[in-house]
Amino acid sequence: MTAPRIETDLDKIRHNARRLVQRLGRDGIRVTAVTKAVCGHPDIARAMLDGGVAGLADARIENVERMRCSGIKSPICLIRTPMISQTDRITHTCDASYNTELDAIHELSQSALRANTVHGVILMVEMGDLREGIMPGDLDAIAQKVLKIPGIDLRGIGANFACLGGAAPDQQAMNELSDLAAKIEGPGGPLLVTVSGGNSSNLPFVFAGGNSGRVNDLRLGEAILLGVDPISTDRIDGLWTDAFTLVGEVIESNFKTRFGETPTASPTSTLVRTAADIQHVRQSIVALGEQDTDIEGLSPPAGLAFIGATSDHLVVETPNVRLPIGAEISFQPNYSALMRAMAAPNVEKVMRNRRPQSRGRAAEKIRYRLAVA
Ligand SMILES: *Cc1c(COP(=O)(O)O)cnc(C)c1O
Repeated sequence: MTAPRIETDLDKIRHNARRLVQRLGRDGIRVTAVTKAVCGHPDIARAMLDGGVAGLADARIENVERMRCSGIKSPICLIRTPMISQTDRITHTCDASYNTELDAIHELSQSALRANTVHGVILMVEMGDLREGIMPGDLDAIAQKVLKIPGIDLRGIGANFACLGGAAPDQQAMNELSDLAAKIEGPGGPLLVTVSGGNSSNLPFVFAGGNSGRVNDLRLGEAILLGVDPISTDRIDGLWTDAFTLVGEVIESNFKTRFGETPTASPTSTLVRTAADIQHVRQSIVALGEQDTDIEGLSPPAGLAFIGATSDHLVVETPNVRLPIGAEISFQPNYSALMRAMAAPNVEKVMRNRRPQSRGRAAEKIRYRLAVA
């Protein structure tokens, strides 16, 4: 098998999704699975759907189109504020999008009307992360305008935490989000289908028994894929943390002579080299580099230490063993390493425990292409 490659155990993704769906279901919270870190890989998206998630979400239209082209029919939401240059593609492939700009919503309206469809809009509220979001004080006025825009269906509101600013969600933030939903709805009662409370960083709050109020949806990427809480990087109880393995191949193994340098006692000469400083280091090169992944985000196997990495070479030290040329080394990626490996064209994507696709899919695929053409 070729290297470098990233292997996905789809059973572990199914398990993680199912556990989170069941656990959050007890609190009346649906799971929207976020596929952006795996570039919308259709097999991984399907594994998430097999686990019972209510729908999918991605930040990039290309990833959404990739999933649609492979025959995925579930609801898909665009979670990054739309680009005006892409609104036709968005209304064509996404059931809804997260929005913060009225101008963009007007463009989505035009696209939806042209295509004779209705596009769902979820308004993102700024709650301290200082990335995307409408200021809470402006939300109600904007929502009332959106309700009147033709071709647009105001589906709900959402917030995002701990992505840029690092603020984790707490009881106060959840209360505020619930109050904002109530304010938009007024005395008419529940009208917003979705109140999306955040991402994987919301899970510790929910699991600790926090009251999520009107929140009935979380958008989860990292928790499903890597089984960890993004803030603490702690494993979430009952989830697999090793669904992904990045495999690289050894291309050189040698003893290298390293010269250490010892400061001398004399203040005038700073460093001297002595025989005792010469070290023979057993080191190897793995054909993997910064162009393939985020090397800092890899956990090496036991008995192997990183010395350094460049764009195409990862130099490792193995004090106790000689790694033969052609040996494969497996690393565990964190979110950043996973994301880059999935996006790197030279890293092969290998899926384990794939389920056979139903026979209808090939036909659906062709029909979809025709609709796009
Ligand atoms: C990436 C993203 C998510 C998913 O975040 P995780 O920490 O991977 O769960 C949710 N919402 C938005 C808006 C995002 O951009």
